[in-house]
Amino acid sequence: MSDTRLTIDLAALAHNYRVLQIASGKAQVAPVLKADGYGLGAVALAQRLLAAGATRFFVARVVEGEALRAGLGDTPAEIIILDGAPLGMVDRLQAARLTPALSTLEQARSWDGPPAVLHVDTGMNRLGVSVAQARALADEGFACALVMSHLGNGNDPEDPRNTEQLALFQEATSLFPGAAASLAASAGVYLGADYLFDVTRPGISLFGGGPREVPHPDFKAVATLETPILQLRDLQPGDRVAYGSMFTADRPMRIAVLGAGYADGIIRRTYSGAKGWLRGAATPFVSVSMDLITVDVSHCPDARVGDPVELLGANARLDDLAAAAGSVAHECLVRLSSRAERVYIN
Ligand SMILES: *Cc1c(COP(=O)(O)O)cnc(C)c1O
Repeated sequence: MSDTRLTIDLAALAHNYRVLQIASGKAQVAPVLKADGYGLGAVALAQRLLAAGATRFFVARVVEGEALRAGLGDTPAEIIILDGAPLGMVDRLQAARLTPALSTLEQARSWDGPPAVLHVDTGMNRLGVSVAQARALADEGFACALVMSHLGNGNDPEDPRNTEQLALFQEATSLFPGAAASLAASAGVYLGADYLFDVTRPGISLFGGGPREVPHPDFKAVATLETPILQLRDLQPGDRVAYGSMFTADRPMRIAVLGAGYADGIIRRTYSGAKGWLRGAATPFVSVSMDLITVDVSHCPDARVGDPVELLGANARLDDLAAAAGSVAHECLVRLSSRAERVYIN
């Protein structure tokens, strides 16, 4: 292996899409490709998802929608903007044929394009009109193609807020009987049939993250980050590694120095808890700095300079890396930087 490499497996993406489509039942899966497809390249992902049957995508920003529209060329695919129709953005939305998820009364009342999406807040207190405001809009004759809301605790099926949000959402959808409805992101798809409605909006599980923030066997890793061993080093008890006292050896051990670090998106805090994988063997992280990670290879006598160590992928699962980072899979993915060479495979 020559250099640190991020492989993006589009066949794994299509597999995960099919898994989500089956789990979504009769609902249509509308992939969420915000933040440049969670950092993996929204246009390349969307092209593969279009081939797999997707016809509708969600992104966050207008500028993301413009880039996706430009990258996809003439496809009729619908691109929905979760930010809504921010002030001064309406012309840009219409020029790029983007559909806003209208999230305030003012946006909904002034929208004069084709029927759009109405975002209703059912308890997260982020974007969206209240159910009472949705009722006022319905009374004024406001028409929309899709009513959506978002769950704050979908990863915990026991959380009573899920059923509270569901009840409010049902109230909102009843106001617009002709419109389609969408509530579930990746987590919501696994809450049961009541949460599926007409359209599901998974993001992270398309890329291999488990819907409940732990690895799920049905989903394949889409992003694989591998980095070569640059140097092997034997430590004696008391030897320290990297900055400060990130690690002090308490026994004779062998470490491998790898060509990746937080400049590639591996969060510093993962030095305690994350594992790399070398030919099927776990190699616990010892230190993380900007360009270099060290891992314990004491139990890998055949480790050689140049061998690739997987830092993220089929063995080093995204949710495990996220847990070591004290974060979520979404953050770990979007942090993967452009420094690693990127290779798309089909
Ligand atoms: C990000 C987002 C999603 C996708 O969430 P995942 O957890 O990645 O599946 C769906 N809907 C909204 C409103 C979002 O912001």
